[in-house]
Amino acid sequence: MITIDKITKKTRTKNALLSIVIPIYQEESHIKSSIKTIENVLIEDNLVYEFVLVDDGSKDNTWEELKNLAKDNDHILIIRLSRNFGKESALCAGLEYAKGDMVLVMDADLQHPPGLIPEMVSAWLEGYDLVEGIKHSRGKEKFLYRVCAKFFYYIIYKSSEINLGQASDFKLLDRKVVEAWKELPERAIFFRGMSAWLGFDRKEIEFDVEERVNGSSKWSLLRLIKLAISAITSYTSVPLHCITLMGIIMFIGALILGIQTLFMKFSGKASDGFTTVILLLLIIGSAIMTSLGIIGIYLTKIYQEVKSRPRYLISDYIRGGDKKC
Ligand code: UDP
Ligand code: MG
Repeated sequence: MITIDKITKKTRTKNALLSIVIPIYQEESHIKSSIKTIENVLIEDNLVYEFVLVDDGSKDNTWEELKNLAKDNDHILIIRLSRNFGKESALCAGLEYAKGDMVLVMDADLQHPPGLIPEMVSAWLEGYDLVEGIKHSRGKEKFLYRVCAKFFYYIIYKSSEINLGQASDFKLLDRKVVEAWKELPERAIFFRGMSAWLGFDRKEIEFDVEERVNGSSKWSLLRLIKLAISAITSYTSVPLHCITLMGIIMFIGALILGIQTLFMKFSGKASDGFTTVILLLLIIGSAIMTSLGIIGIYLTKIYQEVKSRPRYLISDYIRGGDKKC
């Protein structure tokens, strides 16, 4: 539980420390220039800042590039995870080690416009605890991706009343929101959903998703579907209730059909009924399989939570300016 001593009553001033947390996976070609671009915005706006850059087990030269960056910049902390744990886990690692009074989470590919940072900080200074970047336009996305995203948000909203709408992972969190987030114990995490669940005074700022500076998105359709299933089953047990509902509807149908069949039999009008039997078998069979599948997903979730393995493992870290790097 978040205790009251974790809630700072400090007045918010412009010289508060801003931590920028960035999960990074295979971004060797542009990570240096991305960080420089973001840093220029921070310097121009006279902000006090630190970077927490988490290498999510990249297999390319990203770690070397990060080491080069940290070599002569003591604003930078770089953390290397032991393997690719996924963006959400990398974010957790970053939030864990960010020391700022406010923490900004953004992507490494400049799709989240750094130019918006001063406006987000101003909103924090006004007293908002959670300043969220909302996608005004979604940039160039494949049609299928767009439809899937819409469908996914709709299901989450209908089943758990968490409105993710055009939400993004581009967020500025006050220290107390970070502390509250760290209290959440679950292993399967979905940052966008979690921060919506947390509440707090929030402000939304619209932005247009920029083109990726380089490289390509790390999310294949399969990976996205997996994330969507994980997110839906993390936030709602509605699919399980649907199974019960489906069971009840099928029971009523079975009752009606049963009565009709008996009636036909006793009145001597019974036909061969082969097609009906096959159809019923197929429908009931697939309904049972689907239901078992849904229960299985929840079971897997429970299994993973019960194992309580850490969300990530760190294999190395370097604080900027350290001689050893
Ligand atoms: N990312 C990560 N681990 C992963 C996949 C992605 O840390 O397994 C990082 C990636 O380097 C980037 C951010 O998460 O900083 C968003 O990834 P990407 O641009 O591929 O996602 P999209 O913008 O297409 O949603
Ligand atoms: Mg991106």
